[in-house]
Amino acid sequence: MLVLLKRGAGEAEAADVASRLRMFGLAVHRTEHDGQVRLAALGEVGAVDWESVRGWPAVASAARIPRPFKLVSREFHPSPTIITVGRVSIGSEQLAIMAGPCSIEGEEQAFAIAAAVARAGATVMRGGAFKPRTSPYSFQGLGEEGLKLLRRAADAHGLAVVSEVMDTQQVELLARYADILQVGARNMQNFSLLREVGQCGKPVLLKRGLAATIEEWLMSAEHLMAQGNRQVILCERGIRTFETYTRNTLDLNAIPVVKELSHLPVVVDPSHGTGIRNKVAAMARAAVAAGADGLIVEVHHDPDHALSDGPQSLFPAQFDELVAQVRTIAGVLGRRV
Ligand code: PEP
Ligand code: MN
Repeated sequence: MLVLLKRGAGEAEAADVASRLRMFGLAVHRTEHDGQVRLAALGEVGAVDWESVRGWPAVASAARIPRPFKLVSREFHPSPTIITVGRVSIGSEQLAIMAGPCSIEGEEQAFAIAAAVARAGATVMRGGAFKPRTSPYSFQGLGEEGLKLLRRAADAHGLAVVSEVMDTQQVELLARYADILQVGARNMQNFSLLREVGQCGKPVLLKRGLAATIEEWLMSAEHLMAQGNRQVILCERGIRTFETYTRNTLDLNAIPVVKELSHLPVVVDPSHGTGIRNKVAAMARAAVAAGADGLIVEVHHDPDHALSDGPQSLFPAQFDELVAQVRTIAGVLGRRV
């Protein structure tokens, strides 16, 4: 239920309404919009006499939130959520450009790519240290060593860091090195992981599952927010379809759909979305034109020898060009890189 307080209700009244709602066994989350306190009261709402709640002196209204995802919904929080990480405010008029290798492979690689993406205009460096690989014989990532290299390389170029967490036992470690914890497509519905990441206090990049509907994806974001994490960034990275010419089908429909349903920022991953280097820029441009709040792009200084996802990784010069094009499109939309 969404309980709106009367305009002018003070802190003490808001706290009092929240604690009375908690006495019904409900979880209460608070936000503000237009100078009005809004409380989402979640849980077994059917047992509560809402008519009497509506009569409480500080309460203006109490209405059902007409979505299965409550905290993620625009009804709870009408204005866009903006998440500031390093030099970028994700969800603002500034596009978040995140780029880097699929995996951190070594010092020289991490530093060369950090320099290249920073020069092109990225503000966040990506790079996996724990890799979810289809084959157990493929490179699995450098683990903590990879995180250290990623952090040092990013710091040397004034970049923030995003990196994937695969397991509940890695959350603390990732939170020590990364500014944004990535939950990968394969883990979108790993609910124990979502619970831990929801409590870690860091922004989360939640990738859409390979076969997840938009509603399932938003429900996973709800799991994070229900744990108290308000800093959730959604990432469309392509879904499985019957099409085989591309690795995935990048669902750009998701951008305007999510923008209507939710206040959370949405970024797009055209690298996994296409799986093909020479298709990445086109879909990056399309994503920004469709209203994405940012991009996450795989870039490698030597993609032919990359230990993962080389075929979809851009050469630095291609990434330079992509950012220049996206900058032009952003300008048309009143946004900037
Ligand atoms: C990645 O970002 O390298 C990755 C494994 O992404 P996804 O979870 O979208 O497949
Ligand atoms: Mn990858």
